[in-house]
Amino acid sequence: MDKQKLKFETRVIHGASMSEDWLGSTLPPIFQTAAHKHDTAENLSLTFAGKTSDHIYMRLSNPTNRVLEEKLAGLEEGAGAVVMASGMAAISNTCMALLRAGDEFVSGSSLFMSTYILFTNIFKKYGITVRFVDPLDLDAMEKAINGKTRFIYLETIGNPKMDVPDIAAISKLAHDHGLPLVVDNTLATPYLCQPLKIGADVVIHSTTKYLSGHGNASGGVVIDGGNFPWPENRFPDFKPFIDRKGNLAFLDKVWREHHINFGTTQAPFHAYLTMIGLDTLALRMERHLENAMATAAFLKEIPEVTWVRYPGFEDNPCHETARRQFGGKGFGALLTFGLKDQAACFRFINHLELICHLANLGDCKTLVIHPYSTQYVSFDDKMKASLSIFPEMIRLSVGIEAKEDIFDDIRRALDKTNT
Ligand SMILES: *Cc1c(COP(=O)(O)O)cnc(C)c1O
Repeated sequence: MDKQKLKFETRVIHGASMSEDWLGSTLPPIFQTAAHKHDTAENLSLTFAGKTSDHIYMRLSNPTNRVLEEKLAGLEEGAGAVVMASGMAAISNTCMALLRAGDEFVSGSSLFMSTYILFTNIFKKYGITVRFVDPLDLDAMEKAINGKTRFIYLETIGNPKMDVPDIAAISKLAHDHGLPLVVDNTLATPYLCQPLKIGADVVIHSTTKYLSGHGNASGGVVIDGGNFPWPENRFPDFKPFIDRKGNLAFLDKVWREHHINFGTTQAPFHAYLTMIGLDTLALRMERHLENAMATAAFLKEIPEVTWVRYPGFEDNPCHETARRQFGGKGFGALLTFGLKDQAACFRFINHLELICHLANLGDCKTLVIHPYSTQYVSFDDKMKASLSIFPEMIRLSVGIEAKEDIFDDIRRALDKTNT
């Protein structure tokens, strides 16, 4: 049976090879071992040379993690994947593998907060320049490319601006300039969008969010589409990796040069939890998307709510792109909305009883946060405004509870906010 021919809903459950060594277990065991014994000196030597797929040492690879890697590569229809300790590990290793001191890259300006800090404060220390552009403005993106540019970076759905760039159009622009396109697909998940199929070259996820889905595991993944040619004029440093691994040169570079030396290993227990979560990804996403659309519509009708930002609304500037790119399945499960001011936001959050107040998203539970005073507290007001972070803004990650209970909790908290 060709697993890639199975439907997505089946592949989230059955999309990895099971080993006979697991005694019929339907999930891989947690291989809780720091290193693996080898029978002969010859075999360990061959394994170090990359000529077997055996395991050596946990920081390098682990059999439990490898099953998750196979599953995630399959879901994104990529050529290979490496899981890492967190989404940020996946982002920083990917960028470090693509960049050298003095290089530049172009990034959509609508970014997850830690990614933004990495791209600005941290990379600056190493002589790397990021050029931020509005990801909806292709002319600005093209103008930002020069001889030192090494890649273009985007989020499928910008967090928390909720903008949806046109991946096919941007990948064409990138490829016309001999550049790869890297996409953080955390907010869309492969259920809603498979960026590699519409032109992206590398996909990243924080598996901490929807892929694991239960707020109980940390992880990230880098998935290599395996199609980018890494032209020698712009990527001379890729030659040894191409010679060694052919179309998986980038994944080999990320793994060999960065992941194993920075030590960003995912503990196999987290891979195990993530695999349990993945089994229900398609089912959860269906409900997440339905609940998010309904909650956005519910909020829009509430007089105290001054605005709601969600790509599912027809008057949202990204609505058409999102509809096309996400195949009509939905518009994501994150939304933002405005109340009167910051004090009203605080009172609203303090009166919620069901919706959890915490810094996460993509959990099966509905989550709320006031980004302005938390994740973005160290940013100045101009920066916050450019990222669409306002004092009167609430961010909601809509979960999979009965939507009537989500509505009731919001209504009850707003009533108490007003009194
Ligand atoms: C959470 C998140 C990350 C970072 O992932 P961690 O697992 O927390 O390191 C990166 N990108 C996006 C879009 C996220 O939501």
